[in-house]
Amino acid sequence: MRQDQLKCLHQLLLRQRESLLNKNRSFALETREGHVVAGDEADIATGETHRNLSIRLIERERVLVAKIDRALEKISQGTFGNCEECGENLGYSRLKARPVASLCIDCKLAQEKEEQVYA
Ligand SMILES: [Zn+2]
Repeated sequence: MRQDQLKCLHQLLLRQRESLLNKNRSFALETREGHVVAGDEADIATGETHRNLSIRLIERERVLVAKIDRALEKISQGTFGNCEECGENLGYSRLKARPVASLCIDCKLAQEKEEQVYA
């Protein structure tokens, strides 16, 4: 991968991380307010559902932030863009679409197959 491509992906990861963290903050705020205004039982139930959904979303985004952190770490170590299984280069176009990808297509498919077997 060229140096300018790596730089571009680095920027992309930083921007994604930034927007995820900003979104999480507004989510937390929304959830708290939603809980306070909940009046009768129906409202409370809606509030609960909303809060559960928010928690699930926050959880998913937290996982994504962790993946971004790992990708950023790999950039600083000079190992970014290589498949964690076979060491194959993932290629700029795949990383541009999904900068947190850590496996090549072949290893990814193999992993998904395995997950299905044990699911
Ligand atoms: Zn691979």
